[in-house]
Order: sequence, then structure tokens, then C-alpha cells
Amino acid sequence: MDIRLHNTLTREKQVFSPENPQRVTMYVCGPTVWSYAHIGNARPPVAFDVLFRLLQMKYGAAHVVYAANITDVDDKIIAAAAETGRPVGEITALYETIYREDMGALGVTEPTYRPHATDHIAGMIEIIQTLIDKGHAYAGRDGVLFDVPSMADYGKLSGRNRDEMIAGARVEVDGGKKDPADFALWKAAKPGEPAEARWDSPWGEGRPGWHIECSAMAKAVLGETIDIHAGGLDLIFPHHENEIAQSECAHGKPMARYWLHNGFLSIDSEKMSKSIGNVKLVHDLLKHYDGETMRLALMSAHYRQPLDWTESLLDQSKTTLDRLYNALRRMDVEAEDTGAPKGVVAALCDDLNTPQALAELSALATEANKSEAADWPRLKGQMLAAGRLLGLLHKNPEDWARGDASDAKRIDALVAQRIDARQQKDFAAADQIRKALAEEGIEIMDGPQGSTWRRV
Ligand code: AMP
Ligand code: ZN
Repeated sequence: MDIRLHNTLTREKQVFSPENPQRVTMYVCGPTVWSYAHIGNARPPVAFDVLFRLLQMKYGAAHVVYAANITDVDDKIIAAAAETGRPVGEITALYETIYREDMGALGVTEPTYRPHATDHIAGMIEIIQTLIDKGHAYAGRDGVLFDVPSMADYGKLSGRNRDEMIAGARVEVDGGKKDPADFALWKAAKPGEPAEARWDSPWGEGRPGWHIECSAMAKAVLGETIDIHAGGLDLIFPHHENEIAQSECAHGKPMARYWLHNGFLSIDSEKMSKSIGNVKLVHDLLKHYDGETMRLALMSAHYRQPLDWTESLLDQSKTTLDRLYNALRRMDVEAEDTGAPKGVVAALCDDLNTPQALAELSALATEANKSEAADWPRLKGQMLAAGRLLGLLHKNPEDWARGDASDAKRIDALVAQRIDARQQKDFAAADQIRKALAEEGIEIMDGPQGSTWRRV
């Protein structure tokens, strides 16, 4: 079955055909690790994780190479270091770990590569030098700038006209720009900036501009032309437009063949962003909701559409998962090794139509609930295979029924501690555990077989 993807570059849905089916390449712009990720930041990793899974199914897991970078040098990181007095490396290591844990909780598969910007400075310098040599860049007062008028088809991704581009270009100190649309490739170090965020270069000490990081990392781990490049809608301009300018002027070939962009996640119909201050951090949400519930909520809208994040969306997602897990639980048999059901695959092949895929999965659960035992191995196999493709239903249905599976482990441990306390006749400690759990709505039931618990 063909995979069709909406390509921002051509503005149409196209059949996806990789340059080399033995090595399908995909790059998704990753986070700047200066703080916690909000749930909007999780939309690209989740949406393109579904694509990664679909590509792996079609081309074979060994033939898909997926890179998602970590931006570990940036103004915001330097500001966070200055504010807290902590070294840059400590801040980036901490927030990268948290990011990876949070994404893991949302069922995001580890990409094949996670390149770090600071490991690729030499590659960035090399591209910048090539651009200077080819007449596409020049050294200005505060570093090196890309010469926008030197590229005939600059602006082809966003389709912006010149005035809009100038208005949208990051307001940087003009740094000796020849043209207002020119952008920074290399930024000269400013006095007081930490030693960890400056490198030697032919243009003096400094650090790379943001866009050049991705041009260098994509080239280093995937190659000069990649199949798919993706990220959030806000990256089309200037970030991806400028990545195209740098990579294509340096290498003389297309940077990526398919460009994919996800729509924005909003809260109360307003874009979720740190600058507006209306963010919900993944880390905090995970204290109240299971990661799988959040993943399903993120997949409930098509990735290109806006998605409004509300409590009722989360409640509905939880109810949907309860229903799916209950259907699995009822089918108390070994699952057959079936492939993913056609309807689910067809929906995902149609530009990653996750709402349709979820509707198909739900229909399977309905069928399963009405089915005879003879059909269970097949139906269970199909549900689980669909789940693997979507990154859902990997938990034990019994654990799910008892509450959040990871939470279940924590509660089991507390119940065991209480039994210990009672055996040691520390009734005060035992009571305290019972009370704490009761406050969470969890009741402990003591019986001749030991203690069990349930949510009330
Ligand atoms: P940032 O750390 O701001 O560079 O964002 C990391 C990724 O999250 C980028 O691909 C952004 O496009 C994406 N992103 C940021 N905010 C949102 C949002 N509210 N909804 C969807 N994607 C977002
Ligand atoms: Zn990027």
C-alpha cells in the first residue's frame, strides 16, 4: 500500500517514494534543552513517531534511519546558566534526561540517532566556509551572515514574499547585514558569555546560529539529501527555509524531498507557548494522567490540524483506552500473529490519518466484544498489531484495569510496605499508608490471601 504524505514544499499530498528503500531517512527538529517540554512540544515527536513506525513496517525496521536532534547551545540555555549560576552542560544534561523520560512515557520510540549540536561544530564551520567560498555568505561585524539575495529560489518552502520574510526574520542586532533578510550562520562571542558556549573558528570565537545546526547534523548522520524532514508549523519560516538555503547552496542538491509540518496545540483556543505563559508541562501532566492517555489525546486529531488540549479530551481518551483494554482483557487467549488490520494501515498511509486509524481500532474492539471465543486469537492479534503501529496497548490489560500500570507498581509497593509495617507491629506506619492511599481514592482490602487494592 502506498504511503501518501502532504508535502509543504509542493503543497499537495504525494505518494511517498524514498530515494533508496534500503535506507529511508527522516529528520525531525528536536528540543532546545533549557527547560521542561510542554505538551505542544510533544506533538511533533508523537506524530512523527507514528510515521517512523509506519515506515519501519513498510520498509523493514533495519531500513529506516530516523534522527531527532538535541539543541544544546542557544541563547536561552546561556541565559538559564547565567540565571541559575549552573554550568551550561549541567542544565542541558538535566533537561535532556527529563525530555527523554517524558517522551518515553508518551510511547515515543528512541530515534536511530540523537545528534547533539555541540558535537557537530566542526561540520557547521565546514558548511559556513563552503557558503563563503561559493559567494552565499559573508563575514559581518558580529559574525557570519547568509546572503539571502544570492539564492534565486529563497522562500520556496514558505512561499512568503520579500516583505513578509523581512518582517518575520528573527530580530537580530543587524550585525552589519547587507540585506535585512540575511540571517546569522555564526555569532561572534559576546563578553561574559560562558567558555562552554564558545568555539574557535576562522571568524573568531563564537557559536553557531540555530539553523546551521540542523543543516550540519542532518548531513552528518543522514546525508546531503534526506527523504523526510519534519517539525512544527512554526518552523517552516524561518528555520526550515534557512536550513534549505544553507544546505542547498552548500551542496547543490535538495536538502529534503518531503517536508512535513504539524499543526499547533492550543489551550482554551490560544496557542500554547512559553512566552504566553499558558503551558502545561508534560512532566506535570504525567503526575495526573497516564502517558498512554496523553498519547491517544495527541493522536485524536489529524497531525496537520490544530488540537485544543482540554480536560474533557483527556477524559475521553482515558475512556477510549479503558474500552480497548477491556476488550483485550475479555479475550483471555494467546494472540495470533496477525499483521496490522488493513483499515488501520490504510488510514495511516493516507497522510497519517490517526483519527481514522483510532476509529478502526475502536470498531475492532466492538467486534471483539460481540465475538465468539473462536475468533479471539485473530481479533486480539489484530488489536495488538494495530496498537504496535500506533504506539498503544502495550500494557498488561489487568494492570490497566487496576489503574495506571506504572502507578500500579507504585501502589503495589506501598501496599507491600504496609504489610511489612503490620508484621513488625508498626501500626502507626501501616495506618499512615492506608490513609495516604485513601486520599488518592485507593482502598486496601485485607483478606486471608493477603492484601489487595482497588480504586473507589
Ligand atoms: P521549541 O523547543 O520551541 O523549538 O519547539 C520544539 C518543537 O515543538 C518544534 O518542532 C515546534 O514546532 C513544536 N511546537 C512548539 N510549540 C508547539 C505547539 N503549541 N503545538 C505544536 N507544536 C509545537
Ligand atoms: Zn531544525
